[in-house]
Amino acid sequence: MKIFNDIKSIRADLVQFQDKKVGFVPTMGALHQGHLLLINLAKKHCDIVVVSIFVNQKQFNNPEDFVRYPNTLEKDIKLLQDAGVDILFNPTTQEIYGQDFSVKIIIDKLTENLCGKIRHGHFEAVALVVSKLFNIVKPNQAFFGEKDFQQLQVIRKLVTDLNFDVEIIAGETIREIDGLAMSSRNLRLKDSGRKIAGQIYQNLCLAKEQIISNPSTNIESILSIVTQNLLQIGAAKIDYLEICDEVNLQPITGFNPKIKSRLFIAIYVDEIRLIDNVQLY
Ligand code: AMP
Repeated sequence: MKIFNDIKSIRADLVQFQDKKVGFVPTMGALHQGHLLLINLAKKHCDIVVVSIFVNQKQFNNPEDFVRYPNTLEKDIKLLQDAGVDILFNPTTQEIYGQDFSVKIIIDKLTENLCGKIRHGHFEAVALVVSKLFNIVKPNQAFFGEKDFQQLQVIRKLVTDLNFDVEIIAGETIREIDGLAMSSRNLRLKDSGRKIAGQIYQNLCLAKEQIISNPSTNIESILSIVTQNLLQIGAAKIDYLEICDEVNLQPITGFNPKIKSRLFIAIYVDEIRLIDNVQLY
């Protein structure tokens, strides 16, 4: 696996693959099976697989969350080598943003709810760095996880609206045995927090079962029971627990099997913010 830290060198190397299908998996490192799923998808679909590891400071609303973001680079490199990745792009912040960076991307509508409502500027910063990475790597296909479902939809919109010549492919959420969605942030959970976090998915599934089996019941009351359950077992705070239309991410109050929708959660455990979602169809 070749490793590049600067834009000029990776561009020079990628020139030789102009007639090959290049797959790209952007990450922030501390890699786990969720990332590996996307890498394996990329390997299946493409001739050359490029992975980036770049912790994008601009997309962190909480400076402490950025400072504490796990860094396991040596382990990551080994994992990428074993997975058969061709190229790792691991630039510094200076390399990506240089001096006096001033371009911004604004995304309407899709960012009005869920994480976008709370983490102001987060998705704009994600869209910006992904645009830059697309311009550097020029992939034919790029792979994103459904775990970060709002991010996936934002990237799809970015690609459509700005005419990026890249196909976006989604990977399902990979989970621990107890259902907890794998996340680099899970590394920061204490043992007690890890137990609480293991209940998140189970509660989402419980709510899903009740909503689907009896769509005429009051959804608010089901969600409120789930909220109480999670707070009672020790979750610190729930930013949101709501059902949204999968396409436009607008909230839905009543379940309609004809509309593709998902139940979304953002929850704090041990001061760590975790997100997850389940399909409701
Ligand atoms: P991150 O390194 O957290 O920025 O994630 C990089 C990519 O991996 C994003 O497209 C995420 O949606 C995806 N991803 C993160 N966790 C998972 C998971 N548990 N299952 C599938 N994909 C994931």
